[in-house]
Amino acid sequence: MLKSNNIEAVINLIKKECEKYNNAIVTEIGDITKNPFKVLISCLLSLRTKDAVTAIASRQLFKVADTPEKILRLNTKQIEKLIYPVGFYKTKARRIKEICKVLIKNYSGKVPDNEEELLKLKGVGRKTMNIVMTYGFHSKNHIAVDTHVHRIPNRLGWIKTKKPDETEKQLLRIIPKEYYHDINDLFVVFGQNICVPISPFCSKCPVKKYCHKINIKKHR
Ligand code: SF4
Repeated sequence: MLKSNNIEAVINLIKKECEKYNNAIVTEIGDITKNPFKVLISCLLSLRTKDAVTAIASRQLFKVADTPEKILRLNTKQIEKLIYPVGFYKTKARRIKEICKVLIKNYSGKVPDNEEELLKLKGVGRKTMNIVMTYGFHSKNHIAVDTHVHRIPNRLGWIKTKKPDETEKQLLRIIPKEYYHDINDLFVVFGQNICVPISPFCSKCPVKKYCHKINIKKHR
């Protein structure tokens, strides 16, 4: 049976390991700027894009326009140029403009600070909503599940889920609340450097003795 002290031990070991690497870019933007709008936009830019590219694109865009009003003064081509080469930069440029229009029209230019309203914004799914709530508004009640946060707890044997939404529900149930804020950042960094999607580096993994997956199959 899964013990909560094992979960805490694993999280703390992963935390220590992650000190060797850069933070995930969107959470870093949230921690540094404490600005929900920047968290929302950088999160949209980060979809299917490497962190290093998201960092450059976010920096370039925010240097010119860091509020919905300023972004709407730019035309779509200008936004495309500023965020290039993030993946799907043309679609993202259009989407960012649409979201800024809605923020101004319906929310006085502010990012709404609740799940329901955030999920009404086009292009905002549960992951982005949870990222904005956690790293933009410092909510202590959300866990943002992306591909890493879905994969790693399944490998560890904490949960057995097929879909991220299911993972979110299970993690909210089993992870001690004081770790909610750190989970996304830690698992993204750990998932980019150690528990990578294909051929994870199990031999140098600090939590291998707690891992269910390594007992089933040998990895490098
Ligand atoms: S032992 Fe391997 S599969 Fe398990 S958490 Fe570590 S890297 Fe991932």
